[in-house]
Amino acid sequence: MTLSHAISMEEACSSDWDVVVIGAGPAGTVAARQLALQNWRVLLIERKAFPRYKVCGCCLNQRAISALLQIGLGNLLEETNAVPLNSFEMRFSGRAATIPLPGGVALSRAVFDERLVEAAVDAGAFFLPETTATLQNCTEQDQTRQVKLAQQGQPSGTVTAKIVLAADGLGHPSLQHCEAFESTVSQSSRMGVGALLASDYLSDYPTGVIHMAIHKSGYVGLVRVEEDRVNLAAAIDGDFIKQSGSPAAAVLTILKASGFPTFSEITEGSFKGTIPFTRKTMRPVGKRVFVLGDAAGYLEPFTGEGMANAIADAVAVAELVPQGLSEWDQSLEQTWLKKHHEITDGRLTWCRWLAPLLRLPVAVGIGLRLFHLFPAVARPIVARLNH
Ligand SMILES: Cc1cc2nc3c(=O)[nH]c(=O)nc-3n(C[C@H](O)[C@H](O)[C@H](O)COP(=O)(O)OP(=O)(O)OC[C@H]3O[C@@H](n4cnc5c(N)ncnc54)[C@H](O)[C@@H]3O)c2cc1C
Repeated sequence: MTLSHAISMEEACSSDWDVVVIGAGPAGTVAARQLALQNWRVLLIERKAFPRYKVCGCCLNQRAISALLQIGLGNLLEETNAVPLNSFEMRFSGRAATIPLPGGVALSRAVFDERLVEAAVDAGAFFLPETTATLQNCTEQDQTRQVKLAQQGQPSGTVTAKIVLAADGLGHPSLQHCEAFESTVSQSSRMGVGALLASDYLSDYPTGVIHMAIHKSGYVGLVRVEEDRVNLAAAIDGDFIKQSGSPAAAVLTILKASGFPTFSEITEGSFKGTIPFTRKTMRPVGKRVFVLGDAAGYLEPFTGEGMANAIADAVAVAELVPQGLSEWDQSLEQTWLKKHHEITDGRLTWCRWLAPLLRLPVAVGIGLRLFHLFPAVARPIVARLNH
């Protein structure tokens, strides 16, 4: 990736920044872009080299697409050949149900996130990749926050910003030294597992359909993304992965038990995993710091709302940051808690309701039968999740 606004660590450390954004997923990139468009000096820091793979179902729902359109990034999906989705096929223990799911698209995270970084850079943000950021503690008197930077094989550095946005995903690793942002992990949390597969042995998985295999120990989703590759993403109990011997074995067991065709071509090397993902940051805000996207908490991927929430958080925080830049006031912390809650919590109600049901074979069996016999029952649920 060659970017005119990519910056070296040395240059970044010798500048003063209005806003430092940690993490170049949808939350961080969109927030960086929206703030750069307002002419603030913005540094976007990412620990990985881009483009990078990320475990994700790669499905953008209508709400995510509308948010991109509203901020002028609607053409990104056309330009990248994002694949339109039309239905959601669920299988459990040999039973199947397909429900219409119009309006969404599938796009690999390598391409989506890279294009979002480009959009942030085009807007004037500076990008510092392959750099791990860690927020430093501050005192009551401090008018800025410091972020420590580490690059492989380089001496560490420090950048200073009036405001820091922590958009560094699950478990917010950049906040590990700051107790104020403590988070809780659910005991029953599953782990994410994913791979991007070549399509030549997956002709049983047609384009435009989200194929979802459901099992009492987890679920596996497959969907075709751009360039006809197949993205696989799963949420599986850690114990079941151990018991199966590997993520690939666990995935194949779930596909087979649910009634989907299996394949022998996937290897252990194809898979990447996440930490347990059901977690909540007790207070996703602190002095001159806003926490957004997955860094603020995440529940379950089944309803595919993570990226829509991340983008909505980013747009909302970019409206709030200018107030904090002119003068930091504690009332901003309350405002962000309320705003973030409005964006995510109402939607998480569905997820909270679904998550335990998905672990009950009888409930899944009844649900699938109902959707199979009366597909109209699913329509309001799908509509609610999509908007
Ligand atoms: C199995 C699974 C399937 C999913 N399927 C879907 C789906 O189909 N649709 C959907 O909308 N959502 C889905 N999600 C959720 C979605 O992936 C997340 O909600 C979304 O990526 C959150 O975006 P984010 O920007 O907050 O964080 P992320 O996308 O995780 O981005 C965080 C970035 O921060 C970087 N970073 C981390 N630490 C540091 C550091 N210290 N310094 C610098 N950089 C750092 C990371 O490398 C990463 O690039 C799924 C999740 C899982 C686990």
